[in-house]
Amino acid sequence: MFYRPAAKRCRAHRHDGGVCRNWAVRGKNVCRLHGGLSPGRQGPRDAEHMRKLRSGSQRWYAFRQARKAGGLPIRRMGRIPGRRNWEPIEVSRARASAKDEMKAILDNTKRDGEIATFDAAEVAAGPGEGVRPAD
Ligand SMILES: [Zn+2]
Repeated sequence: MFYRPAAKRCRAHRHDGGVCRNWAVRGKNVCRLHGGLSPGRQGPRDAEHMRKLRSGSQRWYAFRQARKAGGLPIRRMGRIPGRRNWEPIEVSRARASAKDEMKAILDNTKRDGEIATFDAAEVAAGPGEGVRPAD
């Protein structure tokens, strides 16, 4: 008798929290509806590939650092602190950049060793060039 692996059931989780349990595609752990027909990763993910990925992310990080050092706006990455789910993303970004600007002002005043004071004319002039999300 030849060894024949038992047919597997799909391991994917359904939206209702249960498990799919359809027949899995041969050689896969999921059924055809849950990605069993996907060819998956195509190329090799060898040392060369990993090196290229790493150098790319380093280039990206250096670019950001350079922009930041030059006082240019950089796109904020990751979750926006204090984001409300119902709120339009533009509003969240605007609030976040306003917060950043306020923080920068407070940091500057702290560095000077003074209590934060605001010039009325300066406040009336509106916000200056802060960290803004790129379009
Ligand atoms: Zn399935």
